[in-house]
Amino acid sequence: MNKRAFQILVFASAGVAAMACSPGQPAGSAPSPGSPSPVRVGAWEDLYEDVRVGGLEDRRFDQERFWRVARAVVEDSDRISVEVVGQSGESRPIRLISFGDGPTPVLLWSQMHGDESTATMALADIYSLVEEKSNNRMVRSILENLTVYTIPMLNPDGAQRFQRRNAQGIDINRDARALSTPEGQILKTVRDRVNPVVGFNLHDQGVGTRVGRTDRGAAIALLSPPYDHSREINDVRLRAMEIMGVMIAAMEPMVGDHITRYGDTFNPRAFGDLITQWGTSTILVESGGWSEDPQKQYLRRVNFVGLMAALESIATGSYQGVGNDAYQALPANGRGVGDLIITGGTIVIEDLPTYRADLLVDYGKPLLEEDGTFAEIGDLAEVEARDTLALDGLYLHPRNRALEQTDAGTQLRVGAPAYFSVSRTVDGRDPLWVFRGGPPDEIKRNR
Ligand SMILES: [Zn+2]
Repeated sequence: MNKRAFQILVFASAGVAAMACSPGQPAGSAPSPGSPSPVRVGAWEDLYEDVRVGGLEDRRFDQERFWRVARAVVEDSDRISVEVVGQSGESRPIRLISFGDGPTPVLLWSQMHGDESTATMALADIYSLVEEKSNNRMVRSILENLTVYTIPMLNPDGAQRFQRRNAQGIDINRDARALSTPEGQILKTVRDRVNPVVGFNLHDQGVGTRVGRTDRGAAIALLSPPYDHSREINDVRLRAMEIMGVMIAAMEPMVGDHITRYGDTFNPRAFGDLITQWGTSTILVESGGWSEDPQKQYLRRVNFVGLMAALESIATGSYQGVGNDAYQALPANGRGVGDLIITGGTIVIEDLPTYRADLLVDYGKPLLEEDGTFAEIGDLAEVEARDTLALDGLYLHPRNRALEQTDAGTQLRVGAPAYFSVSRTVDGRDPLWVFRGGPPDEIKRNR
């Protein structure tokens, strides 16, 4: 028997490579000599620590918690106004929070998918910035030139359950045409009322998404949604692309080459696509994954910087003439990879001969490595995952989740919760550790 101690190999997960990569201009977008850069790199990040609000350190929060945090900032403010513009299916108020009194209307909406909270946190920080730093020259320019409307957490019923869909079971971002959801109706009504020149559609994407064909994780994906199947670039889209050029320059010093372009297949049911069709230059922002950032607090900061750089450039017009090269040069969003591959172990199941099989585990909470279920079982040599756990020479005993015991009838099954113990012996006595939907703390620490 192979008695060598278990061995854990962890391959680069999202963001690790970024630590080593130097800040720089996006490929193909270096400003020509002499032309002023539309972005003062670091200007917004320098302000961030002063204005970041406390109380949203866990990315899973309900509307009540969000409002407790945001209300403390916006209540009694002379600069920020709050209007309840409707109710969710379960009667939670949906608020339009606005600042600035300039001639150019801009609309940002976040968390139409209830479990995508990164930008909602950044919006709270932006309210705090407006309240605390109104004398800052850049903030003043925004307040004078723009009227900024925001709907933080468009889907509070989904947020209550931390799920994508609303209480009706509908994906609000596939309801722009049918308008069967109260939340979708509210977004449409607000858009028609304020007629924004620019719209920001703020989401999170799978943390396993890669940059193009590389092994790098995608921290931020951007898109100018097409307005029809031709995917042609009209003035409305070109404006969005130029503003994204500014956002890329502002965010690249923070996330390096971990910015991607989201897929641009036209979807006639999606809000980003139809809002573009209705004449608003729409920018989709998808926050992905970042190393050592399980609560997306770093990506929250990146959102803050990217959105503020965008608002400033709209306020001053500095995006004009930036062109769409930086946006077009972004690598496409790559494949989504699984969360964890477990290789090399021998599976022990009562009534079956022992057998060798790899296991793919996908987590319900990928950033916390919790709530794992088996996604595939067998020869997975070509399958990619963010992490690998090599268990050569060890035995895996599937366990019953409720009892956490091995018992007759316990099987390995795709879709089942990933519970098993790992031992040096086929009888499973004296397990080295137990995988309870995720690796135990001592293994997480060893990484
Ligand atoms: Zn989404």
